Amino acid sequence: MAKIADLLAAGQTFSFEFFPPRSDEAARELEKTIAELQPLDPSFVSVTYGAGGSTRERTRDIVVHIERDLDITSMAHLTCIAHTRDELVSLLEEYREAGIANILALAGDPPTDDAPHPTDLNFAFELVELVRQVGDFSIGVAAHPELHPRSGGDRARDRQHLAEKLALADFGITQFFFEADHYLRMVEELAALGCEVPILPGIMPVTNARQIQRFAELAGAAFPTWLAERIEPVADDPSEVAKIGVDVATELSRRLLDEGVPGLHFYTLNRSPATRQIYANLGLASI
Ligand SMILES: Cc1cc2nc3c(=O)[nH]c(=O)nc-3n(C[C@H](O)[C@H](O)[C@H](O)COP(=O)(O)OP(=O)(O)OC[C@H]3O[C@@H](n4cnc5c(N)ncnc54)[C@H](O)[C@@H]3O)c2cc1C
Repeated sequence: MAKIADLLAAGQTFSFEFFPPRSDEAARELEKTIAELQPLDPSFVSVTYGAGGSTRERTRDIVVHIERDLDITSMAHLTCIAHTRDELVSLLEEYREAGIANILALAGDPPTDDAPHPTDLNFAFELVELVRQVGDFSIGVAAHPELHPRSGGDRARDRQHLAEKLALADFGITQFFFEADHYLRMVEELAALGCEVPILPGIMPVTNARQIQRFAELAGAAFPTWLAERIEPVADDPSEVAKIGVDVATELSRRLLDEGVPGLHFYTLNRSPATRQIYANLGLASI
């Protein structure tokens, strides 16, 4: 039961993100993916949480399974919007009792329906404080290099909120981005505010251009013209798109490693080939 803060203090970390499967078949697929990625010896893996608790049990069960049965350090994502404080405390207590040492504390997105959603904590920094009260967890938070989608473009305020949140946490993980300068500029802006908390860049290999373009819109990340133009000629050939996606993610990862980032966090979308290929390209492991 390693703490991610300790892993980061010891050196660079390499980690993978999964989402909770929605069917038995998807669960088998995820199990296969994890088995294929385990030989890469990840520093830790993380499992997302459906905002408002839609994956509450599934996220918990997978995180505990990975930590206990597969002996891989795992981190549970947790969102606070549309949860009461008591609900959050009881889930955190379950993690604590199960020996889970790492929590990614998130606000989550506000629900879009009109149903009542009792919410005690509205911002991630409040959840960080609550997680600290419940247990001796290592705590990560989200960072958005291209500003949070709800920032309204107010860069100074966005960075101020992020710096204040990071000061309470142990580390950050970014939303995905395709140009290293977005990340490097964010780190510089945070340093100017006195914030030196390690922030892991999130790497999303494009394997399906339309899907990633949609994700990028939602996440406030730019899908750059040069990338769209590179993909356009092969848009109808999924394997060629995936090859370009792996090359682009490899180039981005290499630049970030050269810049001395604290590690890399891969968005796997519950599939292993792209991440394995990037690892091989970077000389991190043979596939
Ligand atoms: C690595 C990563 C993993 C993620 N995993 C998940 C997941 O598993 N499940 C999920 O549902 N979503 C996930 N998300 C998405 C995340 O929940 C959304 O981006 C959400 O909109 C904001 O969450 P946050 O934790 O960044 O919020 P916050 O840090 O609370 O920020 C939300 C907004 O509030 C503003 N703000 C912050 N503090 C204040 C303050 N004191 N006063 C006024 N405004 C303030 C911020 O500037 C920002 O605009 C993830 C995002 C990342 C980057």
